[in-house]
Amino acid sequence: MTSPRAEHALQVAVVGGGITGLCAGWHAARKWGADAVRVLEAGEGPGGTTRSDREGGYILDWGPNGFLDREPATLEWLEALGAAALLRRADETAAKRYILRHGQLHRVAGPPAFFLSPLLSPMGRLRVCCEPLVPAKRDHTGESIHDFAQRRIGREAAETLVGPMVSGVFGGDARQLSLEHCFPRMAEMERVHGGLFRALLAKRKTNPKASPVGPSGTLTTLENGIGQLPEIAAEALGGAFAPRSPVRKIAPSGGEYQVSCENGDVWRARNVVVACPAYAAAPMLAETAPGAADALNAIPYAGMAVVCAGYKRDRVAHPLDGFGFLVPRDGSLRMLGCLWTSSIFPHQAPADGVLLRTMLGGATDPNVLSLTDTELVELVAGELNPLLGITGQPDLLRVFRHPRGIPQYTLGHGSRLEALERCEAEHPGLVFAGNAYRGVGLNDCVLSARRAVDRLRA
Ligand SMILES: Cc1cc2nc3c(=O)[nH]c(=O)nc-3n(C[C@H](O)[C@H](O)[C@H](O)COP(=O)(O)OP(=O)(O)OC[C@H]3O[C@@H](n4cnc5c(N)ncnc54)[C@H](O)[C@@H]3O)c2cc1C
Repeated sequence: MTSPRAEHALQVAVVGGGITGLCAGWHAARKWGADAVRVLEAGEGPGGTTRSDREGGYILDWGPNGFLDREPATLEWLEALGAAALLRRADETAAKRYILRHGQLHRVAGPPAFFLSPLLSPMGRLRVCCEPLVPAKRDHTGESIHDFAQRRIGREAAETLVGPMVSGVFGGDARQLSLEHCFPRMAEMERVHGGLFRALLAKRKTNPKASPVGPSGTLTTLENGIGQLPEIAAEALGGAFAPRSPVRKIAPSGGEYQVSCENGDVWRARNVVVACPAYAAAPMLAETAPGAADALNAIPYAGMAVVCAGYKRDRVAHPLDGFGFLVPRDGSLRMLGCLWTSSIFPHQAPADGVLLRTMLGGATDPNVLSLTDTELVELVAGELNPLLGITGQPDLLRVFRHPRGIPQYTLGHGSRLEALERCEAEHPGLVFAGNAYRGVGLNDCVLSARRAVDRLRA
């Protein structure tokens, strides 16, 4: 063990410099001043999974490619960071989404086009139409997303429409994930309105444009990719952002906390926001809060690989007129889906180029991460080229790996959250934030950062 290099006193130590930690650090610094705050980040730079590279006119996002512009807390933070003018919203083309079925890309459509679409069999469509007749679930036992969808809209729609959406958002397995924790609004639609169609009709009364297809809000990035957000946030924090500071242990000490880093630094802090991944937080708290450490260790993560390929436009026959496509887990293709990034955000590719981002892995295919980069690229080319009419080689290829990329809110997640809430109550000033708890989207991370700072001791 390294001997302590120095002991510094803080109002707030934030562990982890991903979007959550940066946002929590920024709010804390606004409240108490930057000198009283440190965002302790294990790596060389800010952002965690949220980073972007820029190469040959392409913008390559490592993980997330944007956030939905429906969350005021995110927009307010960007405004306060002076980044509002850098926002770039998805092109209207991106409203079209596709699903692969029987070797063909089918547009996902709401009613009335849905009833004529061959995406589902006639029986499958008929079963979806019966949704208003399905009684609401009366008991409050946990239910997987798949079981909920199968119960309400039938097995075919659950596997063809809902399963791919779950891999798209969570890299998850709909049979394992908890509806209540992954899609709380969907659970509420049944609880409050008795069903999904009824909830949509009620929503249309207040918002006639409400659509059953795709998320509400517009996908939004920044001029230089979503990775520009953590870069700006870290710059705003100045000396309060401390890279190369991997935290080893958090221990209570005289009404405060002692936060020890692997590099020998020791920080005394009145408050600690734990904003690193759950598996990284568990060993830090093993002595102080063993119950919380067990709960953190019980949150599984799914690995993801992202293959970015840039082509000259004339090498791709498909019009790429949409957001991209998702693939049901029916054994047809191994990839989870492909985003047509240059159609969503035209500024992320050169004028004569297109950028495709293929996602692989997730909870249903963890073994894909053991392939080499060359094997991943070959796998993607083998599946994508015939589907999109791609000929020749890409101008640019990059593979990004996230071995433990997305936390999985499996059934039982509620009891893990309860254990962490007990730990927060027993240790005033110690708060958990980040994508492992109440939502994996960037907006959820911003909300969780604000929740954390609101709970800190003055
Ligand atoms: C492939 C992929 C695509 C995605 N797409 C989207 C999308 O399009 N839209 C969207 O909204 N969300 C998306 N997400 C989800 C979103 O990116 C994440 O939920 C979010 O970035 C998590 O931020 P975070 O700060 O909570 O965690 P992280 O980004 O994981 O940051 C945690 C930080 O903690 C640091 N850390 C770890 N251990 C220690 C330690 N011991 N001491 C100090 N620091 C430590 C890490 O180095 C890291 O920087 C995607 C995720 C992936 C993987």
